[in-house]
Amino acid sequence: MAVVGVLALQVLRRLGVKGVEIRKPEQLESVASLIIPGGESTTMAKLAEYHNLFPALRDFVKTGKPVWGTCAGLIFLANKAVGQKTGGQELVGGLDCTVHRNYFGSQIQSFEAEIPAPELVSKEGGPETFRGVFIRAPAVLDVGPGVEVLAEYPVPSTNVLFSSSAVQIQEENPVPEKKVIVAVKQGNLLGTAFHPELTADPRWHTYFLRMTVEAATSSNTIDAGTSSS
Ligand code: GLN
Repeated sequence: MAVVGVLALQVLRRLGVKGVEIRKPEQLESVASLIIPGGESTTMAKLAEYHNLFPALRDFVKTGKPVWGTCAGLIFLANKAVGQKTGGQELVGGLDCTVHRNYFGSQIQSFEAEIPAPELVSKEGGPETFRGVFIRAPAVLDVGPGVEVLAEYPVPSTNVLFSSSAVQIQEENPVPEKKVIVAVKQGNLLGTAFHPELTADPRWHTYFLRMTVEAATSSNTIDAGTSSS
């Protein structure tokens, strides 16, 4: 069975999938795909640098094996990150997009919301929306031409309620609904700004496992073709 590497620990067990913690570059050789979970991306970058993981992670991305970055992991995968408080940080890159590290604010601005994701529903079925858990969450500001947008959060407009004058302003000058990109896919790379592992809905995990199985199957086909020729 395919083994999924996790750059720390995420719950894959309930789906019957073996996860291994990745701490050393050479461990990446034995996994079929990789999850880079949430956390704090500057600290994660320092640790990855200390363990000399960046070159191996970049090589892994180039192999075509699936990599899923959630939250800080999405920041890691982005080609560009903005909004750092303490200057630049090293990124793995590969995902052609710009990510804002703390788009929704600090810890106290963490929130949950129902978010539509047509592609997820078409592949995995279930309800039309999923519950997004956003913890000091990033968001994707722009994407390159090869990047598929899988989910957008319809941000509620802010000048509603609280005072009648605000409501009047809104009526005269309606604020268009703002949509913020929170899930993207580019080939073997999946990026989500939220934490699906904190909900009971397994669909983002099954979506990624599907990517893992498809990639493993096609590389076996290629290997078999190469060895028989
Ligand atoms: N915004 C955080 C960062 O900069 C990520 C938060 C998270 O992974 N929950 O790393």
